[in-house]
Amino acid sequence: MKDESGMYPAERVERASVPALDERLGVAIPVLGGQCFIRPVDYMGNDAAIVQAARVSYGKGTKKISTDRGLIRYLLRKYHTTPFEMCELKIHALYPMDVWRQWIRHRTASVNEYSTRASEALENLLTPANGWRLQDQGNKMGSDGFLPEHNEPGNVGKTGKLGGEYLTAQEEDLIDHARAVYQERLDAGIAKEQARKDLPLSTFSMAYWKIDLHNLLHFLRLRLDAHAQLEIRLFAQAIAELVKVWVPHTWEAFEDYRLYSLQLTRLDKEMLRAIVNLHEQGGPIMHPTAEARQVPHAVFSLARDFGWLSPATVLGTTIPKSRERDEFEVKLMTLTGWEAPWRA
Ligand SMILES: Cc1cc2nc3c(=O)[nH]c(=O)nc-3n(C[C@H](O)[C@H](O)[C@H](O)COP(=O)(O)OP(=O)(O)OC[C@H]3O[C@@H](n4cnc5c(N)ncnc54)[C@H](O)[C@@H]3O)c2cc1C
Repeated sequence: MKDESGMYPAERVERASVPALDERLGVAIPVLGGQCFIRPVDYMGNDAAIVQAARVSYGKGTKKISTDRGLIRYLLRKYHTTPFEMCELKIHALYPMDVWRQWIRHRTASVNEYSTRASEALENLLTPANGWRLQDQGNKMGSDGFLPEHNEPGNVGKTGKLGGEYLTAQEEDLIDHARAVYQERLDAGIAKEQARKDLPLSTFSMAYWKIDLHNLLHFLRLRLDAHAQLEIRLFAQAIAELVKVWVPHTWEAFEDYRLYSLQLTRLDKEMLRAIVNLHEQGGPIMHPTAEARQVPHAVFSLARDFGWLSPATVLGTTIPKSRERDEFEVKLMTLTGWEAPWRA
């Protein structure tokens, strides 16, 4: 509203400050065994800023903390996202380049990275002898378990009888050689932009990375997930520690409605309903009997419609692969503790 002189009067607006995050500004959080780090550099906004934006009001946008919390939870639950874009976090990170290849895919951040055209390449990440992960046999993209650390006979890993200490020694040799070749090129006067071309992906780089809270939560949801590669997950966990202290109400809502929520597809819902019906009729979920060898009809016809089971499937036989059905089975187990009827 304009005042008597026809001007819009100034309103006092306090800069958002979160003392718990202020204390951490500039403090490095170690990642990857302390070989890398992230450190918060700056931030804008806090939980109250989200509420303020949502109410399109000036000044302190809240009367009671509980009201702020309720509104934030509502916004996050209902995917009302833009108020969360009012907050931003800037970090400084030191990371290996293979992690950065995944990190930089998140296009909604602003980035300024160390240049190996202008400056000499940084050090390399060295994998400890107990840090070599084995290929997951079920998930092509995943890892499962570790190669034994020592090169003892009987320590049979994917690479034969070698242990992690052999692989780490080999890695050291490789890095030393790549470094020596790089240095030789620099000493010969080759431009840094070309001399760097054969450096390994374990070479460190660093960047300033600034992102708004909406997109940061999206990043965290994807990169905290068990399907994300361990290395980037560790960076995401370190960033999550900052978000928890920066915007505690948002973090709580994020855990409740995104991170630990469970999404049901239309197919999931229909199948779940059919299985619950079966259960209520005392179906083979609770009372498996020798006679009930055939997958129960209602469940079976749905599963066949969805392409989850073939018409020939009977209990006790090999069930053809279906990723979507596997995902449903995990959800069913999480919600009910039951195995799918075709597994009973
Ligand atoms: C477990 C896992 C495995 C992966 N595997 C692979 C892989 O094998 N190969 C591979 O190439 N990538 C892979 N990725 C990367 C993935 O496909 C995404 O590129 C990455 O996670 C970034 O997600 P995003 O685009 O949603 O994020 P951001 O780039 O941060 O974008 C956030 C959101 O903004 C919107 N947006 C941003 N830019 C655009 C645009 N140009 N047009 C329309 N909307 C836009 C979208 O809604 C997007 O979701 C993997 C990611 C994960 C988490």
